[in-house]
Amino acid sequence: MRVELLCTGDELVTGLTPDTNSPFLEARLFALGIKVERVVLVGDVREDITRGLEEAAARADVVIVSGGLGPTADDFTAECAAAAARVPLVEDAATREALAERARKRGRELTPNVARMALVPQGAEVVPNPVGAAPLFIVRLGDCQLFFLPGVPREYRALVDGEVLPRVRAELERRPGRVWRAFRLLRTVGLPESVLDARVAPLAVAHPRVVFGFRTHAPENQLKLMAEAPSQAEADAALAAAEAAARAELGPAVYGADEDTYAAVLARRLTDAGATLALAESCTGGLVASQLAAIPGASAFLVGSAVVYAERMKTAWAHVSPELLARHGAVSRPVAVAMAEGIRAACATTYGLSVTGVAGPTGGTPEEPVGSVYCALAVEGGPTRSERFSLSGDRELIRLFAASHALELLREHLLSSASRP
Ligand code: AMP
Ligand code: MG
Repeated sequence: MRVELLCTGDELVTGLTPDTNSPFLEARLFALGIKVERVVLVGDVREDITRGLEEAAARADVVIVSGGLGPTADDFTAECAAAAARVPLVEDAATREALAERARKRGRELTPNVARMALVPQGAEVVPNPVGAAPLFIVRLGDCQLFFLPGVPREYRALVDGEVLPRVRAELERRPGRVWRAFRLLRTVGLPESVLDARVAPLAVAHPRVVFGFRTHAPENQLKLMAEAPSQAEADAALAAAEAAARAELGPAVYGADEDTYAAVLARRLTDAGATLALAESCTGGLVASQLAAIPGASAFLVGSAVVYAERMKTAWAHVSPELLARHGAVSRPVAVAMAEGIRAACATTYGLSVTGVAGPTGGTPEEPVGSVYCALAVEGGPTRSERFSLSGDRELIRLFAASHALELLREHLLSSASRP
């Protein structure tokens, strides 16, 4: 079934209001196994809306239209629908009565501009709006069914869930040759997109029912798996096989799936291990702590965090000796190690995690250019681990990846200690 969305409104094409109605509906439709084929945004221009309706109706089986059903002068989608269907606008008596009743309840007269909301294309099916004034109406244009909804997100959503989706689902069930879909998002860190692609691409051949897709959302790279099959059971089975193969190939780079977030997954591991954590952050300025503190229940493991930006604060709070700082510089492996060990001792935690680096755009040296970052993990009763990274990008990206690499040091340690007998 081919579905297109058409959203009207000058606010959508002038940067004033982002179109949030479409993503909402797309996700709802995708859960039914329908991938929207096209989304069109049109300003409040009669000819453009009319042409947009005609063109969408010529391509699609279902078109869902948002906006332009209100009482103001820039609301004329019903007119455009009538023009596209080549029928006159007529007044829907029940809607007019409902509008009059609404006005009465508010102690007002039914004004002509409000009464306009009762005008619909002749022959349209009219469905009352449970949370607003303008009704939903449904028009047939050739083989295409068009649903017209108010743009106000609250009303749009209520009508989508209450009226549109049940009709779309019923239509879907009537159709032969329906495609069923199953979907999984695997979330990875530490693998560049090109590496992820190179490692996963060979799997696609063995899983022809699964579409492999990629998405970057720094610092993550995500693998999208979408299975398509003639039944839900076959789609689920194809997805499960592809997911198992991808997880086997990518190993611990996959930290979670679907709605998981990195910090939440790590927080769960720390809590399960009964471990506590202290942080000493330089170039990330508290970013690591902020990401962890965003997780409800962080107090179970997060004991403290010191933003030790200046050298003297690395000494005062993380107990890094001035001699070490003088000898190696603040951006160095020995200082990262000393910061992690110092903050762990100061806070008496299981783990001490540190990060120090050059976020740029200034401050680089020939030995430690912009993007040089050291992270260290001090472990109660164990050796301290440290890593150097050469990151690229602007200041924001370098700080984001520095925080991510620091947390990865901890996650890798937790994974390896969990797998040890
Ligand atoms: P309308 O139904 O065209 O009168 O739209 C009413 C209000 O709903 C607009 O002023 C916007 O603030 C909002 N709106 C309309 N279309 C959308 C959309 N696609 N996404 C989010 N908000 C919208
Ligand atoms: Mg509008």
